[in-house]
Formats: sequence, C-alpha cells, structure tokens
Amino acid sequence: MPKMKAVQVPRAGGEFEVVEREIPEAGPGQVRIRVQACGVCHSDVVTTEGLFPGISYPRVPGHEVAGTIDQLGAGVKDWSEGDRVGVGWHT
Ligand SMILES: [Zn+2]
Repeated sequence: MPKMKAVQVPRAGGEFEVVEREIPEAGPGQVRIRVQACGVCHSDVVTTEGLFPGISYPRVPGHEVAGTIDQLGAGVKDWSEGDRVGVGWHT
C-alpha cells in the first residue's frame, strides 16, 4: 500500500510528529487531493491543545488545503483528475 507523510499530534497538548500513513482511497462522491500547501489556523491550535470537546487523537491539524485532484470516487462527475482545487473549513 502506498504511503504518505503526515504531521500529527498524538494527544491533546502533545508535540508534533512526522508519521507515515496509508494513502486513503476516494469513497463514493469524494475526490482525493494531493496536497501541495496546507494552512494551519487558530482552530488547529485549539484542536492540538484539546480545547474542543470530543476530539479523537492522534490528530492531523490543517483543514485548509490547496492541491491537485489525483483520484475520483464513484459517481463524481463535476471534477477531473488533475484539477487544481482549494478546500476551506468544513465539518
Ligand atoms: Zn481554519
């Protein structure tokens, strides 16, 4: 299985650590993005410090990314592999 690097916090208030994870597959209705840039904002600080209730760890901060679509999930029609995209806050 191909791997990617990620930076995670192992627990609330923990130190950042670089880890390898399996590259996920795009599920139905989803696209997979090869991330080229990722912002880290105040809500990531709150997350890494454990100030939001109910967060599971380890956690990879960063939810605002820019990159290129490299895989389409089943049923995706409005996007194509190679499209440049940006993603903002979502839950
Ligand atoms: Zn943000």
